[in-house]
Amino acid sequence: MEKLIYIKKESLKNFLEKISKDYDVYLPIQNKKNGIINFDSINILNENYIMNLKEKTRQSLKFLFFPPYESLFEFEYKKDIKNPEVTEIALSKPGNSNLREKVIFGIKPCDVRGIDYLDLVFNSGNNKDPYYLNKRENTIIISIGCSIVYPDCFCTSIGGSPFNFGNANIGLLDIGSDLIVTKLDESEKIKKFIADYKDFFEKKDMDDETENKINEIVLQSNKTCSTNWKKINPENITAKMESTFKEDALWQEITKKCISCAACTYVCPTCVCFNIADEQKDKKGERYRCWDFCTNYYYTLEASGHNPREKIYQRYRNKINCKYNYFIKRNKNLYCVGCGRCIDVCPVGMDIREIVSSIISF
Ligand code: SF4
Ligand code: SF4
Repeated sequence: MEKLIYIKKESLKNFLEKISKDYDVYLPIQNKKNGIINFDSINILNENYIMNLKEKTRQSLKFLFFPPYESLFEFEYKKDIKNPEVTEIALSKPGNSNLREKVIFGIKPCDVRGIDYLDLVFNSGNNKDPYYLNKRENTIIISIGCSIVYPDCFCTSIGGSPFNFGNANIGLLDIGSDLIVTKLDESEKIKKFIADYKDFFEKKDMDDETENKINEIVLQSNKTCSTNWKKINPENITAKMESTFKEDALWQEITKKCISCAACTYVCPTCVCFNIADEQKDKKGERYRCWDFCTNYYYTLEASGHNPREKIYQRYRNKINCKYNYFIKRNKNLYCVGCGRCIDVCPVGMDIREIVSSIISF
């Protein structure tokens, strides 16, 4: 008979406290005052901050590995008054050298996929970003599938599913009383992790009641999610994006509500554009990077004053093409994980599904 591995919900708090002695643990935490849920350190849990593993976080996990603002290095010019034509520049080492391993607990499958895409950008080929890798490496990802699917979730339309754990190390399914392990990677690291906390990973024979519960939850979530939007074929969509690119009137019409606030790019798990700048006072300074947004007017503003994407529809068209065209050509995947956050936060009700549907049906 098939053996089930599971964590009892009643021992979850103890499990997380125990692993936090050996790892930096991050999980979805809700601020009781404003109701907002975000990934944060387990250390902030108190009477004002509670764990919330069911609902969607406002921000994706991008914040942890690729923060909105990040110091790259500090510098200092040294000048000798007797020799003014010579300038020496001393650079300090990059910060962010936290070597403690991390456990990300309770991340949704769509956000696991979001991390895969961040890896493609920051950790592939020769383009390895040391700042990203410093935070990303030595991370154990424990995902919990979605037994709640929201009206703006559409991972099933773009090749995911509420229980497709992708590259997560451990995948869990919440059946109420227990968290059932439905994915466990075979790496030595995870074997050791399970062995280290074996008291929390209990085993039992699969029984009919549990099997039925699992099947019902998976079926229901997939069904709900797949009614939220149609299936998108990556090859067809790139062709459609190309053939409609010069249809300015179409793009103007479908983006006319957009106010170019960039909220959608801020919350998106796959938007990764950044800017690099120096802040300097006297001879000391810092070089940092901060997020940038292609929906912003200044993103493409050139020093001459010319802006090749001056109009909102041109910028939004670029954003949609980035996700539903350009990235597919480079990496064979849509650059959208169907998390629905952009729909959730848009102040004027823009819905990426409606935009893409309009393009498909043009
Ligand atoms: S485009 Fe929207 S739905 Fe797609 S990954 Fe980004 S925030 Fe999520
Ligand atoms: S959140 Fe809405 S209004 Fe703001 S840039 Fe995105 S689509 Fe436009």
